[in-house]
Amino acid sequence: STQLMAGKKGLIMGVANDRSIAWGIAKACAAQGAQLAFTYQGDALERRVRPLAESVGSPLVLSCDVTDSDSMDACFAAIAKEWDGLDFVVHAIAFSDKEELKGPYYNTTLPNFLNCMHVSVYSFTDVARRAQPLMKEGGSLVTLSYYGAEQVMPHYNVMGVAKAALEASVRYLAADLGPNGIRVNAISAGPIKTLAASGIGDFRLILRWNELNAPMGRNVTIEDVGNSGLYLLSDLGSGVTGEVLHVDSGYHTVGMLNPASAGE
Ligand code: NAD
Repeated sequence: STQLMAGKKGLIMGVANDRSIAWGIAKACAAQGAQLAFTYQGDALERRVRPLAESVGSPLVLSCDVTDSDSMDACFAAIAKEWDGLDFVVHAIAFSDKEELKGPYYNTTLPNFLNCMHVSVYSFTDVARRAQPLMKEGGSLVTLSYYGAEQVMPHYNVMGVAKAALEASVRYLAADLGPNGIRVNAISAGPIKTLAASGIGDFRLILRWNELNAPMGRNVTIEDVGNSGLYLLSDLGSGVTGEVLHVDSGYHTVGMLNPASAGE
């Protein structure tokens, strides 16, 4: 077969519904012949994730709360039992109390700071450590970041600090796992209207701002992110690790919009 992902098995963590970025990546991988397993957090999301998994021929649908080590143990034990190996993992998971995604960052509370770091940062390292023994022939890990890691974005607050730590984790993990042939990268996606994004204040305005200021003059879709995810997860990305790939219509490259192309 000429399919890019033929013979590859991947774990997709972070699908909440058909608008999830993880679903965009899962669709792109499934279309290229990947065999997928999905995790979901909580019974409410199981009802959404199961039919999506079935639609791409994936019987392996596992409960997993990344802050619960028993649940992580059970999830990776199930993968090890069902599959003879693992080739890739998508980590598209983050959380903050939305009350803390408004007002000044200095009001961030310690409990939410720690929980945000646990769910949004530590969990990726935990997943990498657990995936490594299953990736006997090398592999590829991808997590999702946002420009708020690099520059201040309105309301992003503790999540920006968490994404900066996540991007640093990508580099440390890439160094650790490179000798095992395991690549570790992040996609820094432009804003997309998802369940998680609904917790961010002024999100409609942020979408509009990006559309008006990005070189491509449009927002990205989960299909755009899916295609770039496919590149990093497949052998097309074979020389790429420790990278943060911006999939944002070029927004991060612009210092000031050319007035000639503004204000239509
Ligand atoms: P989403 O709501 O569809 O996905 C977020 C997922 O995180 C959900 O599936 C949720 O169940 C999961 N999650 C939260 N806490 C968890 C826990 N304790 N255990 C297991 N799973 C947990 O939203 P999305 O926008 O697709 O988010 C995916 C990733 O993309 C996140 O890391 C997010 O920060 C990142 N991202 C989003 C945007 C955007 O604009 N939507 C932009 C850049 C990066």
